[in-house]
Amino acid sequence: METRILIVGGAGYIGSHVNKYLNDHGYKTVILDDLSYGHEASVQWGDFVQGDMADGQLLDKIFTKYKIIAVFHLSAFIAVGESVQKPGMYYSNNVAKTVSLLEAMVRNKVDNFVFSSTCAIMGDPEYLPIDEKHPRNPINPYGWSKFMVEQILKDFKKAHNLNSVVLRYFNASGADPSATIGEKHHPETHLIPLVLDAAIGRRESISVFGTDYDTPDGTCVRDYIHVNDLAQAHLLSLEWMLKNQACNDFNLGNGTGFSVKELIEVVKSVTNKDVTVVESGRRDGDAGTLIGASNKAHEVLGWKPKFDSLEVIIKTAWDWHQDMSFKSS
Ligand code: UDP
Repeated sequence: METRILIVGGAGYIGSHVNKYLNDHGYKTVILDDLSYGHEASVQWGDFVQGDMADGQLLDKIFTKYKIIAVFHLSAFIAVGESVQKPGMYYSNNVAKTVSLLEAMVRNKVDNFVFSSTCAIMGDPEYLPIDEKHPRNPINPYGWSKFMVEQILKDFKKAHNLNSVVLRYFNASGADPSATIGEKHHPETHLIPLVLDAAIGRRESISVFGTDYDTPDGTCVRDYIHVNDLAQAHLLSLEWMLKNQACNDFNLGNGTGFSVKELIEVVKSVTNKDVTVVESGRRDGDAGTLIGASNKAHEVLGWKPKFDSLEVIIKTAWDWHQDMSFKSS
């Protein structure tokens, strides 16, 4: 039986790019997604199973039918503001269901796991750029839920010898240059697609959440990393884990920060469109500046981001975004 990677959440934004990347690099995949947020049409590679990651019987079936060598988990709820309003929903999906998934892996003797974590586990940074040693101090339930799973993975290594690589994304952005898959959330809460919507006229304006942060122009600073560069890190993590049979963790960013206002200017210049900006109050749970240090991923994994300018990243998002509503996804 040929080996497969199980991508949980493979119909989502990052999951669909990881799926394409793995298939482009000779791996075979199975996608498990409940389609609560993902799009079936984004699953253009591998076998698709619609279902819940906490459905033990379904997982037992998948692990019996396919020879799964690793599970990639990209099936978390991701909206910081919503996590503050609805913490139960976030702990239930992001923590409790992940435990069920891990238990199914243990039961079926599948012992390699790549986990999508987040720089949000670090909270308000004590220093910049944020490396893997930075103290953990989540400031919203989303960040806490990811931090809890990171701890659970350490416990599963001790108890069950389950290997895992934790990948802490900074701000995932852009789209595959083919423009066949891209970012499309319902409802959309992320800055780049919302600014692109304003540029294209699908919304009247973009709200800037907070202009009184301790940053050069008062707006939040983020490190935008292309989704295919994240996908590359997943593949390298898999190869590292299969070779070393151990656990590791990596922060994944470009190491350069852009403020919300700077990003809007880049969108205007890439799209050649004007954007109406409305300054509004801070959003609950937002840190002022998040910039990543990824030296460890460069050194240990040999990770080399290819999309290192915000212009190029936004161009790929724009190519997808202009007619995404007419695409199948
Ligand atoms: N943001 C904003 N207006 C919006 C959406 C987001 O000003 O309509 C800001 C948000 O406060 C944050 C940055 O843009 O500082 C990136 O937010 P996003 O939700 O894209 O990603 P996050 O950093 O929360 O993971």
